[in-house]
Amino acid sequence: MQSALRKASSTLLPRHMKLTRKGYLNTYYYRFFSSGQDADIVVIGSGPGGYVASIKAAQLGLKTVCIEKDPTLGGTCLNVGCIPSKALLNNSHYYHMAHSGDLSSRGIVTDGVRLDLEKLMAQKSNAVKALTGGIAQLFKKNKVHLIKGHGKITGTNQVTALKEDGSSEVVNTKYVMIATGSEVTPFPGIEIDEEQIVSSTGALSLKEVPKKFIVIGAGVIGLELGSVWSRLGADVTAIEFMPSIGGVGIDAEVSKTLQKIMTKQGLNFKLNTKVMGAQKSGGIVKVQVEDAKDSSKKEELECDVLLVCVGRRPYTTNLGLEEMGIERDQKGRVPVNGNFQTVIPNIYAIGDCIHGPMLAHKAEDEGILCVEGILGGPCHIDYNCVPSVIYTHPEVGWVGKSEEDLKNEGVQYKVGKFPYLANSRAKCNNESDGFVKVLACKETDRILGTHMIGPCAGELINEAVLAQEYGASSEDIARVCHAHPTCAEALREANVAAAFGKPINF
Ligand SMILES: Cc1cc2nc3c(=O)[nH]c(=O)nc-3n(C[C@H](O)[C@H](O)[C@H](O)COP(=O)(O)OP(=O)(O)OC[C@H]3O[C@@H](n4cnc5c(N)ncnc54)[C@H](O)[C@@H]3O)c2cc1C
Repeated sequence: MQSALRKASSTLLPRHMKLTRKGYLNTYYYRFFSSGQDADIVVIGSGPGGYVASIKAAQLGLKTVCIEKDPTLGGTCLNVGCIPSKALLNNSHYYHMAHSGDLSSRGIVTDGVRLDLEKLMAQKSNAVKALTGGIAQLFKKNKVHLIKGHGKITGTNQVTALKEDGSSEVVNTKYVMIATGSEVTPFPGIEIDEEQIVSSTGALSLKEVPKKFIVIGAGVIGLELGSVWSRLGADVTAIEFMPSIGGVGIDAEVSKTLQKIMTKQGLNFKLNTKVMGAQKSGGIVKVQVEDAKDSSKKEELECDVLLVCVGRRPYTTNLGLEEMGIERDQKGRVPVNGNFQTVIPNIYAIGDCIHGPMLAHKAEDEGILCVEGILGGPCHIDYNCVPSVIYTHPEVGWVGKSEEDLKNEGVQYKVGKFPYLANSRAKCNNESDGFVKVLACKETDRILGTHMIGPCAGELINEAVLAQEYGASSEDIARVCHAHPTCAEALREANVAAAFGKPINF
């Protein structure tokens, strides 16, 4: 039977036709020519979306294969994203506290403080190594079969792993999950060498502290990496096309406060400014800029290291999408429906390569929901309840609608605000910059958004997310007992202000 089909397939259709369009034909073609291993689901990519989905799928009883092209697991997040950047942010903060006089102002005298950049980088690498290695252990524990290679969809029910040694392994599967993530968006005309002109990846591994460091883009990643090198001693300037910093979704009042605080910390900002080009010349980098509104106002800036940080784009190179007839949208994303299905119902996609914010926790949640959906579970994610954090000092966190969103949507809302200046824990810790702002529906009191800049905002925002997911009112949080003294009391007080018009302690 198999050989009859193979014969019919190979004589009736030329090879290239079997590999084009929706992939139905090539499934049979490859299946009969390969002796690959079978799986219930093949996950392509082991970033936070793919590895979490793989573990969940295996836990729910699916025979799971994960294919990863890079030598280590964990994707952008663990290797060149969230994890190394937070390691550097944490340690550069300690150095800055000692070096800037912050510690001595607290009575801790730290004479002769100096930076050992190699060790600082080694600590970062150790964290990355431990966590990426941890995923390999979790795969073993949960019986996820890992194949190292570049995954290519070669049929509706088939993925081929192209390995480094030139060999390939074909896996026949019921379901395919695309979790191939994203890559750095290049800046037209600026060539990245990852030494002097770097992307976020190069900026995580500089061998010495640059004297002058220019960042193109004052979004989340630009602000975090700008902070790291500023704390370590670089003179940092962030150039931003938009009139404000912090990227998409940040509340305007928070953005202004963040800019003020960061300027006080020594960062320079050039807003409303367009970068026209940059070149290496005589050991330095020259950057041409002009006013975003008046092109006659031009300037040339110089730096030792230039960080190009204008965003990320979906990564779907050589994935077989064209052959399968899965088209990408204008932004290069894989279109999916509410169940994360592509136009081919058993091929799913999640994480950075689809719509929505490019965030690790969003990719993880989608991965889990997608697997549960495949097994018949409900498949719903409320993107309005996905939090954002900027890990500067102080941190910024937000979830839900900003004031600008609510104004644009014509929603009647009330505001409850509380400054960290009046929060006892922040005062004890001498970290009283910032505030918490809660936006609630004027009529129902339901919380619509929470925005904060201040100590531990990256942790505290999760309480606001929980409340918003459960449809809480500001009075609900106001009436919940909070431990004292904690920064979380500032969130409670902002909700007291929203619910009753006034906070207690301010
Ligand atoms: C500097 C920086 C800091 C960041 N900080 C944060 C943060 O603090 N918090 C946060 O939430 N997000 C942060 N992000 C974003 C976060 O890293 C991404 O949103 C997240 O990694 C996306 O997860 P993913 O699984 O969709 O894709 P990725 O993490 O990009 O993983 C995709 C994986 O798929 C593999 N792959 C791709 N194609 C193939 C193929 N054909 N075959 C086999 N394997 C393939 C890749 O090698 C990669 O391992 C940061 C990003 C950067 C760059």
